[in-house]
Amino acid sequence: MPPVYDKPTADKYDYVLIGGGSGGSASSRRAASYGKKVAVVEVDPYLGGTCVNVGCVPKKIMWHAADLQDKIAHHASGYKFKGIGSPKFDWAAFKTQRDAYIRKLNDIYANNFAKEGVEYHRGYGRLTSPKTVEVTRPDGSKYTLNADNICIAVGGQPTIPSEDKVPGAQLGIDSDRFFELTEQPRRVAVVGAGYIAVELAGIFHTLGSETHLVIRGETVLRTFDPAIQETLTPWMEKTGLKIHKSSQVVKVEGAKGQTLTVHTDKGEKIEVDTVLWAVGREPSTKNLGLEEIGVKLDKRGNIVVDEYQNTSVPGVYAIGDVSGRALLTPVAIAAGRRLANRLFGPGKCRNDRLDYDNIPTVVFSHPPIGTVGLTEPEAREKYGDSVKIYKSSFRALYFSMIDEEHKEPTVYKLICAGPEERVVGIHIIGQGSDEVLQGFAVAVKMQARKQDFDETVAIHPTSAEELVTLR
Ligand code: FAD
Ligand code: NDP
Repeated sequence: MPPVYDKPTADKYDYVLIGGGSGGSASSRRAASYGKKVAVVEVDPYLGGTCVNVGCVPKKIMWHAADLQDKIAHHASGYKFKGIGSPKFDWAAFKTQRDAYIRKLNDIYANNFAKEGVEYHRGYGRLTSPKTVEVTRPDGSKYTLNADNICIAVGGQPTIPSEDKVPGAQLGIDSDRFFELTEQPRRVAVVGAGYIAVELAGIFHTLGSETHLVIRGETVLRTFDPAIQETLTPWMEKTGLKIHKSSQVVKVEGAKGQTLTVHTDKGEKIEVDTVLWAVGREPSTKNLGLEEIGVKLDKRGNIVVDEYQNTSVPGVYAIGDVSGRALLTPVAIAAGRRLANRLFGPGKCRNDRLDYDNIPTVVFSHPPIGTVGLTEPEAREKYGDSVKIYKSSFRALYFSMIDEEHKEPTVYKLICAGPEERVVGIHIIGQGSDEVLQGFAVAVKMQARKQDFDETVAIHPTSAEELVTLR
């Protein structure tokens, strides 16, 4: 087993990080690769943070299970597979297998630290000065790590409304608890319309739970391009997911383990076995000693950083979700690595920083979504009348063999601006969009023009070819 440190091994470290998730792990390992003395303080017994333990990885595995269910239940017969019957997903057995895989990943994180010379200190980290981190070990004992540079990479956590605002709210679970469910709920209400609500409601519904989605507006993913909202919302409804629009939950009644009744401000009463709140996340910045040493927070509690991840206190940095911008694993990793390059790398890295423009992102809905750059309303605000839209709605060839009811939509939209028609936004929804987007994001980052897309020979027959043949 790789070592877990329970005391300092030096009077002073070059770099101490609080949080061993996506950002903290990446930044610490990069710093250690430059021969620096580095320690990571992590409170959770499992390394890897949100993404590995209660985020991207177990979520994507569940998405694959749901995707497979869809293919077996609704697509296979179109391809004339016989004798399949009704698939029955064994949630409990799958959870055991999924958890075992995650434990392997936790070990890989610990082994990587050991291999690369990053000290892993298990405990709660708190700043007691701009140069000292107090570590409280699981047994309550404390020690201090002194460092020239301290990076806060503590991420965030899901929120549940207070009992004052929504009586009975605590009867519900959050996304962390989703991954603890040992049984598939027969009926579930998911509250929220963002990434997590859409993804987890999609998983429940596709795997066969009666699923209700309670949203404040008329569409899901309200910050996404209108084409995405207007395609996904009706498709979810068409597949039988019950969306309660322009609705707020005012009360939850019942008892844990029994039927729960969700009351909305429209007077609806929704009876379910599980309520899942997906109404946003908050940064884990309480009790870190930040205010005491003068680290500036915004009104939501995010750490305010400049473009180089510097906080308001010299020598103290913040990366990842805790800085409140683009809450995505690759963003935390990229910001963390660049920060380590800037602080400890060779001369040419000394100006390294993450450019937060044109960050591609995917929503693992059914079908999945990919998006990079500006939405149409954002582009019109920035570029006015010079915006030109290219859009195509079609059915992927895969669905030609599948009955009408289960033919998923595909919508591809290119947003171009200026006389050269630079591609400033791409928004796609449809089978495979999660994989299609990455390469096209390179093109957007390189400021490709519509003409560059047109001059690229299509790959046939694919859905992606549509993006280089739009007229
Ligand atoms: P985290 O990974 O959260 O790591 C922070 C670490 O700090 C944790 O291990 C925590 O235990 C530790 N910590 C906190 N406080 C202390 C303390 N005081 N002392 C010591 N340790 C402390 N992103 C994607 O790119 N793709 C996805 O598909 C995706 N899916 C997601 C699905 C869900 C359900 C959720 C919730 C998130 C998802 N994300 C996804 C977002 C992604 O998980 C985060 O953006 C990413 O994990 C942020 O990394 P981080 O290093 O900032 O924080
Ligand atoms: P989001 O910011 O995506 O969505 C929050 C949702 O909560 C919004 O839809 C909002 O509704 C709704 N909401 C807020 N307050 C209330 C309320 N009082 N009642 C009802 N609804 C409310 O946050 P998530 O928590 O879903 O995800 C957090 C972040 O994690 C994401 O922004 C993303 O960066 C990351 N993530 C990435 C994933 C990926 O890459 N695939 C997957 C999951 C998470 P409204 O629309 O009405 O404002």
